[in-house]
Amino acid sequence: MSKRVIVLGAAGSIGRQTLDVIRERAASDEKLELVGFSVHSNCETLRLLKHEFPHSRGAWTGEPSLAPEGASWAGPEALARLLSETEADIVVNGIAGAAGLSASILVLQRSMHLALANKESVVMGYRLLKKLADEQRCNIIPVDSEHAGLFQLTQRIGRAIVSELTITASGGPFRSLPIDQLSSVTPDDACKHPVWKMGRKISIDSATMANKGLELIEAARLFDMPQTRIRVLIHPQSYVHAMVRTLDGALYAQISKPDMRLPIHMALSWPKTTASPFGFADLAGKNLEFYEPQKERYPLLWIARQALDEGEAQCIVYNAANEVAVEHFEKGSIRFTQIASVVARTLERNWNLPVESFEDILHIDSMARTIAANNAERST
Ligand code: NAD
Ligand code: MG
Repeated sequence: MSKRVIVLGAAGSIGRQTLDVIRERAASDEKLELVGFSVHSNCETLRLLKHEFPHSRGAWTGEPSLAPEGASWAGPEALARLLSETEADIVVNGIAGAAGLSASILVLQRSMHLALANKESVVMGYRLLKKLADEQRCNIIPVDSEHAGLFQLTQRIGRAIVSELTITASGGPFRSLPIDQLSSVTPDDACKHPVWKMGRKISIDSATMANKGLELIEAARLFDMPQTRIRVLIHPQSYVHAMVRTLDGALYAQISKPDMRLPIHMALSWPKTTASPFGFADLAGKNLEFYEPQKERYPLLWIARQALDEGEAQCIVYNAANEVAVEHFEKGSIRFTQIASVVARTLERNWNLPVESFEDILHIDSMARTIAANNAERST
């Protein structure tokens, strides 16, 4: 029987790769059926997808007046209507940024399983999302490659005997650049990722390692581990995505080619393990390296550890301030190295606010954005 899939953010990097997985599995026993998708600003994608998958329905979540012909819904309610009027088994959330949180909530409220690429959802509101998922008897299946790896490892090994988690990082395009040159790199330089082809925001986050900071928070939340028991290692080849150490000291690794279609495929197969059409990693002749990241080069990783120690609100602030700082860097109004200082300065005030509802999360998120924007403007 085929699984019915909805793809949110279908024109983005995760969205396009999910569509590839659906196409590749079309002739297999584990067929996937695209029943719905959302597009935010790319009219052409909506038209092409309607043509290629005529039984699917497309929601236009961007400016309603720009909605292309063929959109089933447009405007502020489009996403909610797509999710409430389309029957599906699983939804891939490939929306970028904090906007992904409300999408994750809608998916779980509709009792559909959530294949979650949008790490911001986890960083901002995992406790509340998990509660909702449990109430609705739905699963949250991580798609972020490191967490997909940890998910597979912990499922197979058993969470009870795991003593430490490791996630790897490629180190980004500036891994070997002299540190004193970091302040003059441009957004385009930052987007030239050595291994992964991704959206611009996450590519810049990979260069600063704010992405790994977010992933550290994501791992702490998803696997309920203190940050002191989660390691980050630079691994330029990006073959080993995650490792777990068990109580007896053994280390188990999840190894696959650096191709996001694999974790998407795994999430869409789960709880089964199914044959992948995307080949497999061959380690013969490969030289796999691992390094400790340097604090001076990647301060945002240490700031994330501090945010995790301080509390849930600080993790929301970390994400929001980083998003704002990256926007300022993209506009050319702050330097690459100032992204970390804007985030650090925004976290300096007292953020011990309650995080008991989605409204609380959005309130902290919006306060942090205002303060981060002020900090970014004062840095220029
Ligand atoms: P992207 O920028 O390529 O695509 C994001 C999509 O979200 C776009 O189609 C965009 O139009 C849509 N979008 C933006 N704002 C929206 C809004 N307010 N409402 C609805 N849709 C909106 O980004 P991406 O690289 O595909 O990343 C998507 C998410 O997946 C991010 O959270 C990212 O951290 C995560 N992720 C991506 C990768 C990757 O390889 N690309 C890997 C792991 C995790
Ligand atoms: Mg990742």
